[in-house]
Amino acid sequence: MDTKTVSINSFVKGLRAGAYSAAEAIEAFLENIKDKDGDIHAFLETYREEALAEAARVDSVGEVKNKSLAGIPVALKDNMLVAGHRVTAGSKILENYIASYDATVVEKLRSAGAVIIGKTNLDEFAMGSSTENSAFGPTKNPHNILCVPGGSSGGSAAAVASDMALAALGSDTGGSIRQPAAFCGVVGMKPTYGAVSRHGLIAMASSLDQIGSFTKTVEDAEIIFDVIRGNDHYDATSVKSVPETKGKNEFIVGIPKEYFGEGLTPEIGKAMEEVIARFEKLGFKTKEVSLPHTKYALSVYYLVMPAEVSANLARFDGIRYGRIPEAADAETLRDIYALQRGKGFGAEVRRRVFLGTFVLSAGYYDAYYAKAQKVRTLMARDFEGAFESVDVLLAPTTPTTAFKFGEKTQDPVQMYLSDIFTIPANLAGIPAISIPVEKYEVGSGKLPIGFQLMAPHFREADLFMLGKKYDEAYRK
Ligand code: GLN
Repeated sequence: MDTKTVSINSFVKGLRAGAYSAAEAIEAFLENIKDKDGDIHAFLETYREEALAEAARVDSVGEVKNKSLAGIPVALKDNMLVAGHRVTAGSKILENYIASYDATVVEKLRSAGAVIIGKTNLDEFAMGSSTENSAFGPTKNPHNILCVPGGSSGGSAAAVASDMALAALGSDTGGSIRQPAAFCGVVGMKPTYGAVSRHGLIAMASSLDQIGSFTKTVEDAEIIFDVIRGNDHYDATSVKSVPETKGKNEFIVGIPKEYFGEGLTPEIGKAMEEVIARFEKLGFKTKEVSLPHTKYALSVYYLVMPAEVSANLARFDGIRYGRIPEAADAETLRDIYALQRGKGFGAEVRRRVFLGTFVLSAGYYDAYYAKAQKVRTLMARDFEGAFESVDVLLAPTTPTTAFKFGEKTQDPVQMYLSDIFTIPANLAGIPAISIPVEKYEVGSGKLPIGFQLMAPHFREADLFMLGKKYDEAYRK
């Protein structure tokens, strides 16, 4: 089996036709990991024995015939729980933490026949855009190992791009699926907030977090979404969604002008012109629209997100969660906290906990947090307004291609700017998908560029419909 050209769809076909067994296929992917991951470092852990046993089980019980993900090797960002396995969230504070239950997405993947192949690297607690904030060392971009793979789900993106898994899950709070997907030349899908259960995902900012996928094709993204979506009584924000297409003949693609101004490199600007022309060639009308509050997105995000981070990360106090050896001899409770959180958390996590605690504190709450929530509502209204006259929005995923290691680590604001085009969809809770402009072969010497499609709440089906047409015409 050729791990390079296979997609979920073609994999399952080959399996059903008896071209290979699930066990042979999993072995091939594990071999790739062995060969390549020394350079790339996409994985924090691989589940070799378990994956082979699971594949053998899939082969023997005949799941091959009727399960949509039979034998598919899926990697998970290491902020999702798999019972009995370590889950680090990329942090030293959870280095030795063993999960006691499976995340809902893990249960769903398994019941569709998928084989969990291992855990991928991420920025600590999903905070970052390059994986440089992982306590376990960065992941490299498979297209150029001097460049970052994006983040925070950089390990998942790199794993799929370098054929070490056929699909991977990530989480997207402000772009952590779409931005690394764009940097690594794969498809990254962030569903509507609430479409996929977050039970068993280590929370970053609960009103923004969403689990989604990395795949090679849009069709594969749809297959994964169909497996992982749905209501879950362990996550009160999850809803039963039945994705529908608009079902009308005329379908208009909106071009939000605020995403095409300053900050975009000429190379990406040119690629976007080409993508717009391609959609027109495919028969879609395009129309310029305006989302006037876009300019506040980053400021709103860096108030709302840290506030939620500071609340969510309070539990890592060295008593309930998180034990680092240095704190074993602490004498007072205060010392335990100071040692645990001072030494257990990296600089970026500490920065956001401080920021969040500050914006929530009495006297500043109204000026910062409450104000940010109001502007967030205005941003959501911008989208509602735009979707009155267009069906989806098309924009670049990132302002630049993958940058070099160290290029933005000294200046957090420069790093934050890499998410300027992805954050608005999280603030509004709408679904968005990043699709590579071309088919980017690893080793071709090119750095990938991604474009993004955004749709109204629960209109994932429109994203898939449009994306599949694009894939079919331009990424074969
Ligand atoms: N890169 C963004 C941040 O640092 C988004 C992170 C994410 O989506 N998890 O917050």
